[in-house]
Amino acid sequence: MQKNLIENLSKLISRLPGMGPRIAKRIVLQLATNKEKTLQPLIENLQALNDKIHQCEICGNIDEGRVCGICLSESRDKTLLCVVEEIADLWAIERAENYRGKYHVLGGNLSAISGKTIQDLNLESLYSRLRKGEIAEIIIATSATIDGQTTAHFLAENLKDFKIKITRLAYGIPVGSELDYLDEGTISIAFKTRLEF
Ligand SMILES: [Zn+2]
Repeated sequence: MQKNLIENLSKLISRLPGMGPRIAKRIVLQLATNKEKTLQPLIENLQALNDKIHQCEICGNIDEGRVCGICLSESRDKTLLCVVEEIADLWAIERAENYRGKYHVLGGNLSAISGKTIQDLNLESLYSRLRKGEIAEIIIATSATIDGQTTAHFLAENLKDFKIKITRLAYGIPVGSELDYLDEGTISIAFKTRLEF
C-alpha cells in the first residue's frame, strides 16, 4: 500500500515539465521525510493555487480573480496588444520589463505534430477585443519555430480586415527558439526593433 502511494505520487510528479522518473522519486522522498518544512507548506500552497488562481476571461493569463492584474491595470497602454502562444511567454516578456501594453494568450500554436487547429486557439476572444476598436497595434510574439511562424502568418492574414497595425518581433530571436527560454535583453531588443507584417 505504502509503495503504491509513493509510486503514484512519483508518476504524477514525473509528468510535470522538466521532470523525469528519477527526480520525481527524489522529490517524493524529500517530501515524505521533511513533512513540516517542505510537505505542509507545499500542501497549503497547492490548495491555495487550486482555490484562488483562475484563467483571466479577457486575455487567458492566470491570476487571482476573474480578470488578471495586467488587464485591470490602468497604467498599461490599452492600444498595444501583444499576442503570445503560452502564459510562460507572457511571463518571459514581463521579466524583460520593457513592454507596457496588454496581452492575449493563444493557448498554443498551429502545430501539425500536436494536432492543434484554429479551433483550439483562443481566437474568438481576440477578435472580440479587436472589434471594440481600442487597439491600435497588435504585436505578434509567437515563437521563432516553424509552428510559431505558421501561426504568426495565419494571424497576420486573418487580422488584416481589422485595419490595425500588425508587427512581429525582430532580430535577436534565434530561429527555432521559444520565448520562454530567452534572456531579458534579447526579448527587449526584439520588441524595440519589431517589424511591420
Ligand atoms: Zn488578463
